[in-house]
This record gives sequence, structure tokens and C-alpha cells, in this order.
Amino acid sequence: MFEDLSSKLEKAFQSLKGEAKISDVNIAETVREIRRALLDADVNYEVAKEFTNKVKDRAMGEDVLTAVNPGQQFTKIVYDEMVTIFGQEREDIEVAHTPPTVILIAGLQGSGKTTFSAKLAKYLKEENNRNPILAAADVYRPAAINQLKTLAESISTPVYSIEQKDAVRVAKEAVSMAKSLALDTVIIDTAGRMHVDEKMMNEVAEIKEAVQPNETLFVVDSMTGQDAVNTAKEFNERINYDGVVLTKLDGDTRGGAALSIKTVVEKPIKFVSTGEKLDALSPFYPDRMAQRILGMGDVVSLVEKAQKEFDQEEAEKLQKKIKSDKFDLEDFRQQLQQIKGMGNISDLVGMIPGAGKALQDKEIDEDAFKPIEAIINSMTPEERRNPEILNGTRRRRIAQGSGTKVRDINDLMKQFNQMKKMMKQFSGMGKMGKMMKGMK
Ligand code: GDP
Repeated sequence: MFEDLSSKLEKAFQSLKGEAKISDVNIAETVREIRRALLDADVNYEVAKEFTNKVKDRAMGEDVLTAVNPGQQFTKIVYDEMVTIFGQEREDIEVAHTPPTVILIAGLQGSGKTTFSAKLAKYLKEENNRNPILAAADVYRPAAINQLKTLAESISTPVYSIEQKDAVRVAKEAVSMAKSLALDTVIIDTAGRMHVDEKMMNEVAEIKEAVQPNETLFVVDSMTGQDAVNTAKEFNERINYDGVVLTKLDGDTRGGAALSIKTVVEKPIKFVSTGEKLDALSPFYPDRMAQRILGMGDVVSLVEKAQKEFDQEEAEKLQKKIKSDKFDLEDFRQQLQQIKGMGNISDLVGMIPGAGKALQDKEIDEDAFKPIEAIINSMTPEERRNPEILNGTRRRRIAQGSGTKVRDINDLMKQFNQMKKMMKQFSGMGKMGKMMKGMK
């Protein structure tokens, strides 16, 4: 995400390369390029102007630092300003003093409301130990109700729906249901239309009035750029929501909506969604987002994500194996499975400093692991534990069993041995986090 903006900003900073220090002349030039990059990214005109004026003021007032080059100094100035735009601190959703907490989800059709409702339920269950119920108040489209039911089933969460096309009733009854079942959270998925219209706004406003939610979240497709900002404004004027959810950031290479919305509507972004799968949801952190836009790589989330997946004890066992050269194909297979469990691989790679840019034109083929797994699965346990016994005959048998060629097995073994060597070099550095930092 945001590749276009990141690379243009990087270019703006690069124009400072070779300059010994920040001066009035190079500030003006760099600021002009930053403004152009923002406008190209579909950032709202007023926002881009205000942003660059502030960057300029900061740069003018800055002492010239000798320890860093002007490009680095400018990156930091732009970073600070971006964090300010995004609102400095992470803003969480409101929780009711007396349960249930009611969360109302609004937005245009296709923005990702239903998917987000299920993602939020999953997130609150896993991260906050909550017991949610979903309310299917998108009563006009049976497909939407079914979609919600299917998603909810996959995360073992109840859904409240009724036959009648009465959204207010669904919402109210879902809240009563939560009370009687002692469920602490109600997430209400509402109907959207293709465009903002009175009927939709009235309905959402009526539901809001009827259930008095603790939190109203506006969901918007970030790929719609300037339109996203306009829709955000219209919804806010009408239903005065508490926070914004930006969806489809995985496809948004420009980043305009992310940067404009907070300034234009003065409501915090609370969550970002980066894929269709239910785990592609993250709370929004201003500093991490700014780091990503500036191509600094989101080391913090990477490490957190990695830590969540990698059990510490297992990791230590693995460390020992690597050190004593006992890392085998069985361990390798487990590692692959853990990596896959982390969600979107392209996402993960994008978080590694430097890798995002290097890989920006390359699609990460998530299916690439399949033949590797097939090969390892076709080996006997003994072969997995002692890969050195893999002679020609064995390799031919494995190729046949896994539908690959002997050459693929030779390649895999070569890569495996190289990886083993590399891991051994890193193993002295301790935890995964340090390993990642070492790659910078
Ligand atoms: P609703 O009409 O607002 O309820 O939207 P849906 O939840 O049905 O989503 C519309 C489409 O967008 C579906 O195909 C979703 O799978 C897809 N979608 C939702 N969120 C994301 C996201 O963050 N990234 C991508 N790539 N697709 C998404």
C-alpha cells in the first residue's frame, strides 16, 4: 500500500542528496516536490497545502544538524507532521459502563461494512476477550444477511436477524438479546447504498437514535480517493460518527484518503483493513502509518505480529537446533506453516524495512509455498530428519510423489542449506525482532 506516495516522497528527499545542509533554497524546492507528491496521491488540495506549509515552517525553524544529512532531517520533519495530522495517539473504541457496548457500523454499499463487522467481532473476541453478537440490520439484501451469517459462523459468533425488513427493530432486539444472553458487545451492520441518499441516512440516524450506540463507526473504501473524503464529510454531518474505518488499504497505492480524512472531518481513524480475510484488520496507529508511508518499514507491528505467532518456547528450541546445526526439513515445514498463519505474506514482507520498496513491483506468490510443502510431505520422516540421505533414487521418488521435478528438489535443498547457514549467522542475535532489525 501507498507505494506511489512513498516512492515520490523518497525522490523529494533524494533531491537533497549531495546538499551539505538545509537552506532556504533547497527547502522551497523540496516542499514543492512534497506538495506535488501529495496531490498526485489524491490528497485533498487544502490538506496538501496546509501540510506543506507546516513542513516548510518546521524546516525553516530547524537548526541545521550536522550528524544527519538534510534528506534524513527532512524525512523526520515530514514524519512528525504526518503523525500530527493522524492525531498523535491511537484512539480506541468506547466501552459501555453497563454492558452491552453497542457499536453501529455505517457506510456506502461495497465499502466493506459487512466484512468489517465480522472482522471487528473476531478482533474483540481475540484481543479484548469480549463476547459479541452481530445484528443483521442490512435488511434489504438477503445476500448481505447470508454473507454476515457465513462470516459469523466461521468465527463462532451469533447473528441476530429477523424476517421483516425493519432495521430499527433488528437493532433494538439484538441489544435486548445481548442483555438476556449476557453478551457484552453488539455490532450492528447496516444497509448501505451506492450513493449517499436521504433514505439510507434517515435509517442509520433512526437506528442511532433508537439504540444510542457507544460507538458509531464510518466505513470507507480508501481506493475511492477524493470521493472517500466527500462521503466521510456527508456522513459526519448527518450522523456525527465517532471514528473512521479505512478499508482496502491493500489496494490503495496512493494514500490520499488516509491523509485527508482526519483533517477534513476531524474524526480519528480507528481501524484499517488490508484484505478480504478476517484477520486483515489492524488498529490504527498514527506513528506506524506515517512510518509506512515514508517507507521506513513498520518494524513495530512486524515484531508484534511475529511474536504473537511464534511461541517463545518453540522459538528457543529452534534457536538451539539452529546453533547446533540440527535444523531439519521437519522444522522447516513447521516454520512455513507458522509464516502462513501470520496472514497475508505480501503484507508481512511490506513491513520489513527496505523490502517494501525492493519488492514493490513484484507480486508475492502465496502459492509458491505449495510445491515446497508437497515435496517435504512426500518425504519419509527419516528423510526429513536427515536430509543428507537424499540420494538420486530418493529424489526421483519424491519428485514423482509430489508432482515436481528432480531439479525442483535439488533447488529446494540448495535453498534449504543456504537458509540454514544464514539462520546460523543470525542465531547469535537472539529474538526474531533483532533478527529483523539486523536485515535493515
Ligand atoms: P458492504 O456492502 O459495505 O457490506 O461491503 P462488503 O463487506 O460486502 O465488502 C465488499 C467487497 O469488498 C467484498 O468483496 C469484500 O471481500 C471486499 N473487501 C472488504 N474489505 C476489504 C479490504 O480491506 N481489502 C480488500 N482487498 N477487499 C475488501
